[in-house]
Amino acid sequence: MSQSQSSRSQPDPSDKPVTGPETQKPSPDNAQNSGPSNFIEELIEDDLRTGKWDGRVQTRFPPEPNGYLHIGHAKSICLNFGLAEKYGGKCNLRFDDTNPTKEEQEYVDAIRSDVRWLGFGWDDREFFASDYFDQLYQWALQLIRGGMAYVCDLSNDQVREYRGTLTKPGVESPYRNRSIEENLQLFERMRAGEFPDGSRTLRAKIDMASPNLNMRDPVLYRILHAHHHRSGDKWCIYPMYDFTHGQSDSIERITHSICTLEFENHRPLYDWFCDTLGIYHPQQIEFARLNLTYTMMSKRRLLELVREKKVRGWDDPRMPTIQGIRRRGYTPEAVREFCRRIGVTKFDGVTDIALLEHCLREDLNRRSLRVMGVLRPLRVVIDNYPAGECDHLEAVNNPEDPSAGTRTVPFSRELYIEQDDFREDPPKKYYRLAPGQEVRLRYGYFITCRSVVKDDKGQVVEVHCTYDPATRGGNAPDGRKVKGTIHWVSAEHALPVEVRLYDHLFMKEDPDEVDGAGLDWRSNLNPNSLEVVSPCYVEPSLAGAAPGGHYQFERLGYFNVDKDSTASQLVFNRTVTLKDTWAKIEKRETA
Ligand code: ATP
Ligand code: MG
Repeated sequence: MSQSQSSRSQPDPSDKPVTGPETQKPSPDNAQNSGPSNFIEELIEDDLRTGKWDGRVQTRFPPEPNGYLHIGHAKSICLNFGLAEKYGGKCNLRFDDTNPTKEEQEYVDAIRSDVRWLGFGWDDREFFASDYFDQLYQWALQLIRGGMAYVCDLSNDQVREYRGTLTKPGVESPYRNRSIEENLQLFERMRAGEFPDGSRTLRAKIDMASPNLNMRDPVLYRILHAHHHRSGDKWCIYPMYDFTHGQSDSIERITHSICTLEFENHRPLYDWFCDTLGIYHPQQIEFARLNLTYTMMSKRRLLELVREKKVRGWDDPRMPTIQGIRRRGYTPEAVREFCRRIGVTKFDGVTDIALLEHCLREDLNRRSLRVMGVLRPLRVVIDNYPAGECDHLEAVNNPEDPSAGTRTVPFSRELYIEQDDFREDPPKKYYRLAPGQEVRLRYGYFITCRSVVKDDKGQVVEVHCTYDPATRGGNAPDGRKVKGTIHWVSAEHALPVEVRLYDHLFMKEDPDEVDGAGLDWRSNLNPNSLEVVSPCYVEPSLAGAAPGGHYQFERLGYFNVDKDSTASQLVFNRTVTLKDTWAKIEKRETA
């Protein structure tokens, strides 16, 4: 998680609630779904029953603006904003911006847009930990005056060394017993910029023998002559994340401070700060973070992927960032449904990415218009269809949604079909096009392959067929059956487009599992995670399709229009294929 540092003060005695008037009185009865669906909801419903927080439910989503949000953050967003929604409470958006060297406005903007995209809002409840720097500074002074904090001259490395380990008790700093007066003076001089970076720290005086390493005189402030994205050059000492996070929750009168499991052993420290300072004390609750197969979730590493140009940017459709999956064609509904289905637990685990894709397909199946497109074109000539003529065949837009209506697709003498849908020497049970074999063209006619044209390398470049005019619409009046139906586009009418096909960014379920010494997660990057196919041909109804639109290319998957599209060239991303491996897993498990 984030290391923090930075400060600036604004003596706001933090005891007034920052929430506005409640529009709806929280109560278990307001819950939209009956009953709690996880241990956090159980706890909140208990609190509402006993009146522990005067009936308030106040949560927050606290990202550090040091990178773009990923699908793991979506779990936290859905949880925190979702609880506020369910119990008539409020959820703040708080930027935990204590590290001036890693944070940028660009990330703040992206985070806002991502939370909104997921369907959540925070009204005027947008906060920055950096706005609490003055208050934190005052609290540091309060600790010093109470003999609970001291200025330490040990270097970073020495602090670490003196801290000890789980099996070795810590050693007290030789500076631990400085007088309060000296500490106040030194801390003020730290703030005034008299000392170089790293030369001194302010530390809490707790217990160097504590079994919990976080309690062994943790560093509260460090010296860092760095420009902060919001406080500018006002500060050259910055509070550590641990000295900021819990107090920010306190200032905002958070009731349920929800964080991931790795903060469980920071809780005693946050408790110590609130109790020692005598301030409002939220309840921290830990839950298991989301891990996904084939997916890397650390912002630091995602940043490395971007910097090292292993991907095309933060919004590369292969990235697990919200911006990446959004560009890829994920919908907020699919992501929220996924978060609902994975639930919230106390146990770390890894979720199969097939479940995420399953939720995506369910949603795209409902909303996507069906169209025909050919990725790897093979020319088909219908020898008995008159040149220059055109037939307009009726096609269903979305069988899941009758209100989506129908459209017509042009049929003419020359078509494109998928190269895969033709075999000169078909294996057994190949029901698509082959010499002498008859297939159905989707929404069209039956055609029979009569001959092929090859290039000088022996590759089939053109297939000649005849069609049966009596089979218009897809049925033969004489009742004869064909086993295969293939998609197609009219060559003369089709639009040439670029299509980007994606595979997992990592080849291993666990990207950290490397095959040899000296290798890191980079060695698991999938060299075939992006395949650009061009020209592909799509039916003319797609002319003018706007970025973001969702389509099912029949038999090929769900696609959306990429923002790289121009007036003269549409670019499509394949969001996901049609094959649902999760449905298979579920079937097997329930069988
Ligand atoms: P990363 O390790 O990816 O950098 P982080 O925890 O440092 O993530 P923050 O910006 O500090 O990122 O996180 C904001 C909130 O999102 C925190 O409450 C954090 O616990 C939560 N969060 C981060 N990653 C996950 C995850 N994989 N699953 C669930 N919640 C997460
Ligand atoms: Mg972090």
